[in-house]
Amino acid sequence: MTKIPKTHPRYESLRVREMLVEGVESGITSKAGLIAHGRGEAFDYLIGEQTIGSARLAEKAALSVLFSAENPVISVNGNVVALVPEETVKLAERLDAKIEINLFHRTEERMHRISSRLEEYGGRNILGLKPDSEIPGLDHSRGLCSEEGIYSSDVVLVPLEDGDRAQALSKLGKTVVTVDLNPLSRTARTADITIVDNITRAFSNMLELEPLDDDFDNEKNLSEVLEYLAQRLTKS
Ligand code: ATP
Ligand code: MG
Repeated sequence: MTKIPKTHPRYESLRVREMLVEGVESGITSKAGLIAHGRGEAFDYLIGEQTIGSARLAEKAALSVLFSAENPVISVNGNVVALVPEETVKLAERLDAKIEINLFHRTEERMHRISSRLEEYGGRNILGLKPDSEIPGLDHSRGLCSEEGIYSSDVVLVPLEDGDRAQALSKLGKTVVTVDLNPLSRTARTADITIVDNITRAFSNMLELEPLDDDFDNEKNLSEVLEYLAQRLTKS
């Protein structure tokens, strides 16, 4: 890994990029994942690379629905595991949730590498390697899932997710929680709870924050994020 001096003004952003590059080099993240990260970074720059109030509220609301779920599942891909492997395992422990791997470009090798990385951090019984069910409405490899995990879940946390899959999960009656820096993405618009925050901050926050069982209105929350962005863009 390239050593980035801590004094560099963009240290944190560069450190996170290096984690993804390492993810690609170790066969965890796809090359397309780097581009997806770039889209996320652009929005992170606009929100000021910080957890804004609306995101914190969404994080607390997400904890509330996840804690009260019967069968909560955290769905992970190569970007999530490159960035927050330890936090994913700890969050699953905190929520008593299962972890299931789902990849946009599924290869058996990447599935195994991701699973091993999670196991290095203490993850156990990682689902998705031997799919025995399918989410309707998606092409075969993207729809593959596990019966005891995503298929029978009531609440799914699907960070950094593609819009088609978020929509398919929603159609299947799941409560969909996402982490997505783009408040305009199809995923952000489809989810029941959208956390507009970098996953590197969102998962750490969700390990610390207490759940808030309040009426959460995702549309209103997203409007507040856009309002915040508009103000930042227009103030001189
Ligand atoms: P959609 O399919 O939902 O319309 P998209 O096609 O623009 O969105 P995808 O590549 O399918 O984007 O999904 C990745 C999403 O994850 C993007 O919206 C991107 O902004 C977001 N993202 C990428 N990196 C991060 C990160 N580190 N933290 C939070 N969100 C991120
Ligand atoms: Mg997409």
